[in-house]
Amino acid sequence: MNEQFKIYIDRLKNGHTEKIQVEVDSSFLNIEEKELSFPETVGIRGEAYLAEDHLVLHIKIKTRSKIPCVICNESFFYPIDVDFYHTMPVGEIVNPIFDYSTILRESILLEIPPFAECHEGSCPERETISKYLKKETPADSPDIQFPFSGL
Ligand SMILES: [Zn+2]
Repeated sequence: MNEQFKIYIDRLKNGHTEKIQVEVDSSFLNIEEKELSFPETVGIRGEAYLAEDHLVLHIKIKTRSKIPCVICNESFFYPIDVDFYHTMPVGEIVNPIFDYSTILRESILLEIPPFAECHEGSCPERETISKYLKKETPADSPDIQFPFSGL
């Protein structure tokens, strides 16, 4: 269990809100991939409180991931800026300590697009590549077959 991402449920009794404000090393994400890395720290802000029998977490995450551009293949910084709520029944939390590092990891990974383009979507290589892309013109199209036309 990661010490810095623990919420002690007992401390939230009597309407107490626990503020979260940390700047942590991205190593807790456990991501070691050539095509995806987090070279910078991860800023986490938010709060945790109890609403009846539920734990409510409101979390904002800010960091930058490094991913390759789908066009030029150069790595570039892709900004991660998430703001979300997570709730769960207090009865399901053992100890009762809640470790929210898994939730952080999942919400960060959900922000990574499968394909992204550098320069906020206008990769400088786009022009070069479009020259090589085959344009679909009627002359290039193969003869259209109608498999059911003989029925
Ligand atoms: Zn690019």
